[in-house]
Amino acid sequence: MPRRFGSYGGAYVPETLVPALQELERTWRGARADPGFRGELSRLSRTLGGRPTPLYFARNLTRRAGGAEIWLKREDLVHGGAHKFNNALGQGLLARRMGKSRLIAETGAGQHGVATAMIGAALGLSTEVYMGEVDMDRQRPNVERMRLLGAKVVPVAAGSRTLKDAINAALRDWIANVRTTHYLLGSAVGPHPFPSLVAGFQSVIGREILRQARREFGRDPDLAVACVGGGSNAIGTFHPMLRTSVALLGIEAGGPRGASRGAASLSRGRPGVLHGAYTYVLQDRDGQVAPTESVSAGLDYAGVGPEHAWLRDRGRVTYRAVRDDGALAAFRWLAEDEGILPALEPAHAIFAAVGEARRRPARQRVVVTLSGRGDKDLGVVLAALARGA
Ligand SMILES: *Cc1c(COP(=O)(O)O)cnc(C)c1O
Repeated sequence: MPRRFGSYGGAYVPETLVPALQELERTWRGARADPGFRGELSRLSRTLGGRPTPLYFARNLTRRAGGAEIWLKREDLVHGGAHKFNNALGQGLLARRMGKSRLIAETGAGQHGVATAMIGAALGLSTEVYMGEVDMDRQRPNVERMRLLGAKVVPVAAGSRTLKDAINAALRDWIANVRTTHYLLGSAVGPHPFPSLVAGFQSVIGREILRQARREFGRDPDLAVACVGGGSNAIGTFHPMLRTSVALLGIEAGGPRGASRGAASLSRGRPGVLHGAYTYVLQDRDGQVAPTESVSAGLDYAGVGPEHAWLRDRGRVTYRAVRDDGALAAFRWLAEDEGILPALEPAHAIFAAVGEARRRPARQRVVVTLSGRGDKDLGVVLAALARGA
């Protein structure tokens, strides 16, 4: 398990956390080699999570694009409505293996908080979720879901009162309670070993895609597309394909029309340290973390997983930004063409995939990871449509 991806990654944390990070890495190494752990992970992925998720041929969307075939990896059908379950389950089982009785997590839109609350309930671990006050107001239904699932939601009043402040609060809690508590980090970000650990648990997405593609069309896809917030659904999609010839495209949030940054760390940021890792960060001239803007709360983060930073520099994965209006257009296409309401995060990837399919011949296959369902976004979408977007 690499500590660094080129010069990216590492563990820029206070000394008090070093033993906990080492324990986590050691536990994961042991778990990966343990058939009992792997058996339970795959059993619960299947029976609680609903895996494997289907690979769906989007015939009407393909017709709209007028080129290559578009296939959707249906992570929106995972328990809880997004890929977040895959990571929450894996880390929940690791927490239990380490004998920790308490989970803490950060959440922005609330999706990771809900996934952690579900796993906390299922595994019998007490759960507290840090959430910025601004996000609690914007994402009320997820706050209620977490509470109904038995988790405590802790409001964070510091800073911009959003995701990055919630991560800081969770890290502080972890430092104070590290003996009893596992910090169930929600994306492929943060200090080593989290980026590798989360990539490991999310790689089930890419492994299933390759297996299903070989069954459905007898070979690998030509292109795989995924949206990038912290980068967990994208790294899970890409990881098993890094040593194939599949072209890989990561889509960041470009934000509203005219925004200078959006939340596109790889397209518009520069290297720096955020939340314990050296990676691309949206920052001002003094190196202060810059405010981000996106229609999708799940992509609204100033940093990105360090492995993506390295894949970008090496040119193995191409990263581009899609703006809010593109995501809203793709939301409507998928709803009207295929009868699927996508989350606004993967709607960015769908928009890019339609553009790519249009430029490619009909014999090619483009797979898009549909990372979650759109129920949580109906308010945002309806408000945008009412404004004439
Ligand atoms: C949280 C979330 C994302 C962004 O997180 P990644 O770690 O980049 O995958 C994307 N899609 C959905 C549906 C989400 O809930």
